[in-house]
Amino acid sequence: MCGKMYLRLTSNSPADTMAIARELGASLRPGDVVALTGDLGAGKTLFCKGVGEALGIPPDRILSPTFTIVTEHAGPVPLTHIDVYRLSGAREADEIGMRELLSAAGVCLVEWAEKIAELLPTDCIQVTFTISGDDRREIAVAAPDLPRFNDFRARSTRFQV
Ligand code: ADP
Ligand code: MG
Repeated sequence: MCGKMYLRLTSNSPADTMAIARELGASLRPGDVVALTGDLGAGKTLFCKGVGEALGIPPDRILSPTFTIVTEHAGPVPLTHIDVYRLSGAREADEIGMRELLSAAGVCLVEWAEKIAELLPTDCIQVTFTISGDDRREIAVAAPDLPRFNDFRARSTRFQV
C-alpha cells in the first residue's frame, strides 16, 4: 500500500485538456485503471483521446463508447475504454464481466466510474471534472503516491491551481 497524491488543475480549452491527458498518459503503465467522473460534456471522452495518444493510439480512433459500453484498442500498450453511463450500476456491470475488463492487460479508462465505484481497484487513478465555464474545466487527479505520478505533477505545473 502507498499513500495518494492529489492535484488540482485548470483547463481553459479542449487543447489544454488533451495536453493534461497526454501528460498523465505518459505516466500510465499496463494494469492501471483510470476512473473518470464528471457531467455530460465535462471532457471525459476528450481526456481519453489524450491518454490514448500518449499510448500510441491515434485520437480519432477513440470515440465515446456510450452505446457499445466497451471499446478495446490494440497498440503498444492496449487500451480498454469503458463507458458505464447506460448501465444501471455495479451489479449490472458485474454481470457483463466488468471485473475481467478492469483487470485487462493494458490500461483501462472508465467514464462515469462513480456508478461502479465498488468494482474499482483501490489503487485506481481518479480524475474528476467540473465544468466551470464554457471552455473551462477544473480537473482533480488523485493517484498513488509513486514516482511516475510525481513526474506527472512536475510535467503539469502550468495547469496547476
Ligand atoms: P464527456 O465525455 O465528459 O461527456 P466530451 O469529452 O465528449 O465529454 O465533450 C466535452 C465537450 O466540451 C467537447 O465538445 C469539448 O469541445 C467541450 N469543451 C470545451 N472546453 C473544454 C475543456 N476545457 N476541456 C474539455 N472539453 C471542453
Ligand atoms: Mg464521454
